[in-house]
Amino acid sequence: MEVKVLKDILGANEQIAERNRQLLGSNNVFAVNLMSSPGAGKTSLILATIKRLKGKTKIGVIEGDVSSSLDAEMVGKEGVPVVQINTGGACHLDANMISNALGNMPLQDIELLLIENVGNLICPASFALGEHRKVIISSVPEGDDKPFKYPLMFHIADVVLINKTDLSPYLKFDTEAFSQAIKRINAKIEIFQISCATGQGIQQWVSWLLTQMSFLRGTKRIF
Ligand code: MG
Ligand code: ZN
Repeated sequence: MEVKVLKDILGANEQIAERNRQLLGSNNVFAVNLMSSPGAGKTSLILATIKRLKGKTKIGVIEGDVSSSLDAEMVGKEGVPVVQINTGGACHLDANMISNALGNMPLQDIELLLIENVGNLICPASFALGEHRKVIISSVPEGDDKPFKYPLMFHIADVVLINKTDLSPYLKFDTEAFSQAIKRINAKIEIFQISCATGQGIQQWVSWLLTQMSFLRGTKRIF
């Protein structure tokens, strides 16, 4: 019975996510769902991405948070449209929350929508938002065992960013073993090593993002 209820919830979420995807597509907006544990660097990545693409790509941001608006305020200072979602305690964003947020986002004025999910490696994996790509940020201080503990997350993601590589000299993080564990779960996944603090790898990340955007525009596979 519980399984049935969960399926109904996820089925309804899937339908709303598809509507979101169509709305985004009809406005030529490419959307990315950023997921990670708390403190892995989602907001830092958003800030680094905005800085790198300033004047080149029009960005909007949806900030999901359990209660505060600290991240939204920080991102808003960069002069991009930001919509804050307070989940009221819920540990993930869902498609309905995004549907409401999209009503407050100037979709005609943006090309790229960055969605910061709630910091959590479990249920965000089960809730589609209407995004075109799913991104996981793992960070060096968290350790290299995450693919074993949260395989579903790595199974559904398109790209993994290993953040805080500047801390590698001080911490035990086996990048090779980590990458191999991820590839065993998801052979197609792309992995980049980045540091939002030093800027290392941010150009590769942004290039990936732009390639995905133009590829989808060109093929009309999603849009
Ligand atoms: Mg954040
Ligand atoms: Zn949750």
